Amino acid sequence: MIKIAVYGKGGIGKSTTVSNMSAALADQGLKVMQIGCDPKADSTVSLHGRGTIPTVLDLIRKKKHDILLEEMTAVGYHGVVCVEAGGPLPGMGCAGRGIIAALEMLGAKGAYDVYRPDVVFYDVLGDVVCGGFSMPMRSGYADKVFIVTSGENMALHAAANIAVAVENFKNRGYAQLGGLILNRRNVRQEDEKVQELAQDIHTSVVGVLNRSATVTDAEETGKTVIEAFPDSAMAGEYRRLANAVYEAAQKG
Ligand code: ATP
Ligand code: MG
Repeated sequence: MIKIAVYGKGGIGKSTTVSNMSAALADQGLKVMQIGCDPKADSTVSLHGRGTIPTVLDLIRKKKHDILLEEMTAVGYHGVVCVEAGGPLPGMGCAGRGIIAALEMLGAKGAYDVYRPDVVFYDVLGDVVCGGFSMPMRSGYADKVFIVTSGENMALHAAANIAVAVENFKNRGYAQLGGLILNRRNVRQEDEKVQELAQDIHTSVVGVLNRSATVTDAEETGKTVIEAFPDSAMAGEYRRLANAVYEAAQKG
């Protein structure tokens, strides 16, 4: 089992990218689990197609410890096991702490032992690298961290901060930085800026995605690009990225 956390600035394309990588790896016969660590609880929607699924934190609020593993999971496209950690009620409590509680509950109910995934993706909102949001990169959750960025300054800034957090935890045997994923926004000197950041933080750009209307078209059908437009150029880009990330995650 290899556990991969994907971080990046809000709205940069984490959930879309992770869901397409999950679908691409599931197509290859790998058992994939995707855990959305974001109070919006929309990480896996294009995989399970159900609109919403109960979040782990909703279940904890309603049922305390009396929760079945199946209640926390939804099986989506090609068997991808979908989980949404969820978040606190708006204005109440810290979203980061909620993620800690959700991940602990998932572990306590044996999610990793029962489903035995080959790959686990944590899709983590990472502008705010507070204790809770850094949870997936700590305590044995993720093996590797990948950061989605464009060449926009705010995205690069968030990526640099996330890289610092990974570096700070690294010595304790926690997750290592696996690389950057460039999701192009077509800003000037985009590739150069992202390459420069990769050098600064001693990592590499493991994959590049073009900005494409196919992504929005797929979103409108409620599916991943891999499912909705399997023959498109964009599906090819996601497959290449999924393989590159999967390989990079297993190195070192
Ligand atoms: P949040 O931080 O809010 O969870 P996110 O990082 O998960 O956001 P997404 O929800 O995946 O971001 O993507 C934001 C929007 O950008 C979506 O409408 C998605 O379709 C679009 N998008 C992502 N990647 C691409 C791309 N390569 N080409 C075109 N549109 C894209
Ligand atoms: Mg998201």
